[in-house]
Amino acid sequence: MKQLKERILSDGKCFPGGILKVDNFINHQMDPVLMREMAKELVRRFSEHNINKVITIEASGIAPAIMVGDYLNVPVLFAKKNVPSTMENMLVTEVFSFTKNKSYSVCVSKDYLKEGDRVLFIDDFLANGNAALGIIDLVNQAGATLEGMGFLIEKGFQSGGDNLRSRGIHIESLAIIDSLDNCTITLK
Ligand code: 5GP
Repeated sequence: MKQLKERILSDGKCFPGGILKVDNFINHQMDPVLMREMAKELVRRFSEHNINKVITIEASGIAPAIMVGDYLNVPVLFAKKNVPSTMENMLVTEVFSFTKNKSYSVCVSKDYLKEGDRVLFIDDFLANGNAALGIIDLVNQAGATLEGMGFLIEKGFQSGGDNLRSRGIHIESLAIIDSLDNCTITLK
């Protein structure tokens, strides 16, 4: 998506270890106009799917997810990182965080993710795909159907995209980063 690619090149910042910071328009300060355009484009790309729920993981996926949910006119469910002490009625899985280099539990209520749901996962970044694998696990536990996964930015030099596509999942990314080598952003 042209607008996003231009914004990454003008405002994105590279950090050692292959981290791209987009704090100016996605991850800290947010640009609602660009966010709305990105959501519209994701909805267009998944238009052949019959989606009844959007799912994401807190916190950075919530902004794009709610805009997608608004366009689709469906509820938006975010997996919570703090699993409540009363575990009743919760589906729980483990996710390894690329940026924090540790695993954490995420959960959703069985009241909100159920058999028969046709869900679209939305997130800001696709890196190694660990967050996505956690969501696949939650969707499977619920007996729901995963319709697709949409990302604002995919780091094409990490393994998540290939892994998820090889499973036959409909994956869409609005910008794909080929390389962050030498702290230079190279887009596909
Ligand atoms: P994955 O689970 O695909 O390995 O990593 C995706 C998650 O890690 C995203 O939800 C995002 O929050 C975070 N992430 C991974 N790589 C980056 C990055 O380069 N920059 C930022 N800002 N977040 C990242």
